[in-house]
Amino acid sequence: MINNQAQLQDTLNTLLAAQKEQYKLGQVAEYIPALANVPEDMMGIAVATIDGKVSGSGDFEQPFSIQSISKVFGLIMAMNRLGDDLWKRVHMEPSGQPFNSIIQLEWEKGIPRNPVINAGAIVVADVLASHYSSSKLAFLSFVRGLSCDDSIQIDNDVFQSEMVHGNRNAALAYLMKSFGNIEAEIPEVLSHYFTQCAVTMSCKQLAQSLLFLANKGVNPLNNDRICSSKDAHRVNAILSTSGMYDQSGEFAFSVGLPAKSGVGGGLVAVVPGYGVITAWSPPLNSFGNTVVGMNLVAGIAEELGLSIY
Ligand code: GLU
Repeated sequence: MINNQAQLQDTLNTLLAAQKEQYKLGQVAEYIPALANVPEDMMGIAVATIDGKVSGSGDFEQPFSIQSISKVFGLIMAMNRLGDDLWKRVHMEPSGQPFNSIIQLEWEKGIPRNPVINAGAIVVADVLASHYSSSKLAFLSFVRGLSCDDSIQIDNDVFQSEMVHGNRNAALAYLMKSFGNIEAEIPEVLSHYFTQCAVTMSCKQLAQSLLFLANKGVNPLNNDRICSSKDAHRVNAILSTSGMYDQSGEFAFSVGLPAKSGVGGGLVAVVPGYGVITAWSPPLNSFGNTVVGMNLVAGIAEELGLSIY
């Protein structure tokens, strides 16, 4: 039983020490050089609680490319902007397909299964690009505001590489435009989407930025209401069923927390009423999820008895 901050710190250190060699079981994302060049043995874990405390171990203050975790921030911004009309353009079902799959989108007439696969996140990017005069700046300032940290940046090398290697995302966007589900011009939508993928944040910053999802929509760091309690519930539900790519069922089965991962090796898990756990280690398994990050989050969730089920 963990009763205080010192015990939590000890537990994080012990869990991390046990993972020291496990990164060798995964493979760093190689589709862009900017991700392939990150040292593969870096790893960290942070736990932020809704009483404002943060504990961390390892490289938990080292910024990394948040990649798909950015889909959570974009989704909240789009929900706040469009309200329930958003759900006419993107659904909330698991896809059962790889995150960048194009097959389902043709069958389902350009309406993505959910907002955390690439097609869904591109619809969200379109909402933001169409509704903000400068959607990239709005995104960055939203994330900085959530973390109460103005040092958060966009990695321009990652952004440029994503643009150069973005053909599949462009294909998804053009297909959806042919069905009338993209409003803005495609280059503008993709530029927004790749910008948000290229944001760099540490485990600590990420954990703090998502505390509102553990606190019924209110950021406990400054009492700002970020979204309604109902929308916090909805985002957590989507993360529970679809946040871990095509391994979401297994993650729910073994860990039992709403979570989102990214190909930069990051993983965030929300514990409603308690806080947010974030882990980072670049090598990925065959589903695109961080090997060590999953082990770390599973370990602390078990240790603290955090499953929501
Ligand atoms: N930038 C990546 C892409 O769109 C994000 C993928 C991910 O983290 O799942 O392909």
